[in-house]
Amino acid sequence: MKVLIIGAGAAGSVVVKKCAMNKDVFTSVHLASRTVSKCEKLQKQVKEQFDFDIGVSALDADKPEETIALINQVKPDLVINMALPYQDLAIMDACLATKVNYMDTANYEPIDEAKFEYHWQWAYQERFKEAGITAILGCGFDPGQTNIYCAYAQKHLFDEINYIDIVDCNAGDHGQAFATNFNPEINLREVTQRGKYWENGQWIDTDPLEFYKDIDFPGVGEKRGYLLYHEELESLCQNIKGLKRIRFWMTFGDEYIKHMEVLQNIGMTRIDPVMHNGAEIVPIQFLKTLLPEPSSLAENYEGKTSIGCIMTGIKDGKEKTIFIYNICDHAQTHAEVGAQAVSYTTGVPPVTGALMIARGEWAQEPGVFNVEQMNPTPFMEEVAKQGLPWHIIELPAGLGELTQRRKEKDAA
Ligand code: NDP
Repeated sequence: MKVLIIGAGAAGSVVVKKCAMNKDVFTSVHLASRTVSKCEKLQKQVKEQFDFDIGVSALDADKPEETIALINQVKPDLVINMALPYQDLAIMDACLATKVNYMDTANYEPIDEAKFEYHWQWAYQERFKEAGITAILGCGFDPGQTNIYCAYAQKHLFDEINYIDIVDCNAGDHGQAFATNFNPEINLREVTQRGKYWENGQWIDTDPLEFYKDIDFPGVGEKRGYLLYHEELESLCQNIKGLKRIRFWMTFGDEYIKHMEVLQNIGMTRIDPVMHNGAEIVPIQFLKTLLPEPSSLAENYEGKTSIGCIMTGIKDGKEKTIFIYNICDHAQTHAEVGAQAVSYTTGVPPVTGALMIARGEWAQEPGVFNVEQMNPTPFMEEVAKQGLPWHIIELPAGLGELTQRRKEKDAA
């Protein structure tokens, strides 16, 4: 399989290295990104560590004509988009023009509005079908592996799933006062926006971080998870049969929340342009320039991520609750590919997905699909071999009701 990877950041670097570790399948790998020196650095590392040659190019993926020209030169079977959500539609346009399959890990979001929704990408359905190509959306960890856990549970463990709580904990310590584990701009836009979850066919809005739950995360212990809106809720509520409620929880330390609230209160997370000394700047973009790059956190990062899905449903007439999860160790992923666990858990699933396409297990039909619409069984087997082993345990009960943080704050 020939792949073109776009985006040489924290997660893109893991994709490149994992492809090199599967060089029997990925016979040709080309990496293109905005800053070509980052591609060249990775090219050197991949040659030294895996004795594998990759091609590199500078690319502004906001310009479909540049991506089309590169695709025509490289002739990949698949484009893996590891750039930012802003580039999704422009890269899908280039794939349509050149009739090449597409995969990404984050759904489209307009740069001037913090609103990530699938409808922009789902609108490509007919055009992808007509072109005879496939787009697989959301093939990172969450979205990605979490969607596949749900699809696997639906296929093998339940007759119907009624309640899903996706729980995401990074219990690692990178030693910085404040840093984000993936692109700072995308991360802060995600956690500062209003929350939302889906229940009985309705979306229920919440204030940012209004609800929390203390969750016992395997491998790391009890941590406080906050209810957020996350994009996989939008597709899973359509693709899981019998679903009554789906929510997403992410843990944040008190220090992270303190910094984030201060940054928000003083306007540093604003996404609209402001005038500064006669020039227009966007505060969140300036903040990104000041914060550490997520790839730079990998060295000395200690601790683990623990991410999975708690699902309650019916099997053979009886209610049961299942937890499927992965635990990933920052130091181990650093030793393996020089990356921290958040980048690693994001980068391994698209490579596993690409292996599924190469073997003819996925993308058998043209069109635009969310990852849970692909066959989960061979993926689950392969992803464990690729570095993300998963576990299934039975729990006495699901996550249950919400705890409201705002009321406690008001009372205090
Ligand atoms: P980084 O910021 O580390 O990397 C993004 C890369 O994309 C950078 O190298 C950047 O270039 C490049 N890029 C940005 N704009 C363009 C452009 N117009 N043309 C070409 N290249 C461009 O982010 P991460 O690696 O942390 O995240 C990558 C993606 O993964 C994001 O979409 C993020 O939302 C997603 N993600 C998904 C997760 C999941 O589990 N599903 C979890 C975490 C992240 P430059 O170096 O010049 O800035």
